[in-house]
Amino acid sequence: MEEFYGLMADKVLSLEKLNRLKIHEFKILPEICRVCGVCIKTCPYQAVIDRGREPPVIDRTKCDCCGLCYAVCPYNAIVFTNVSGGG
Ligand code: SF4
Ligand code: SF4
Repeated sequence: MEEFYGLMADKVLSLEKLNRLKIHEFKILPEICRVCGVCIKTCPYQAVIDRGREPPVIDRTKCDCCGLCYAVCPYNAIVFTNVSGGG
């Protein structure tokens, strides 16, 4: 497993890969999240669960790994992990 934190410069390219491969698991880091709600409104699959004043969480059963939440988070609080095992 390999984790990527704040790869701002590669976001667009990464998203293209993510859409094709869907081998990533997205998660929200509660210690960084400011609960701005942008990811909740942006997710096309309603996979980001609104928890009120608590940081939202991503429902893996709904997440399609499109990467939009990762791209739009103003605080880089969303990270993704490669779960393919092969990189
Ligand atoms: S966009 Fe980022 S900071 Fe805002 S609620 Fe989502 S994870 Fe938290
Ligand atoms: S990666 Fe896409 S589908 Fe998954 S939670 Fe983020 S915006 Fe929603």
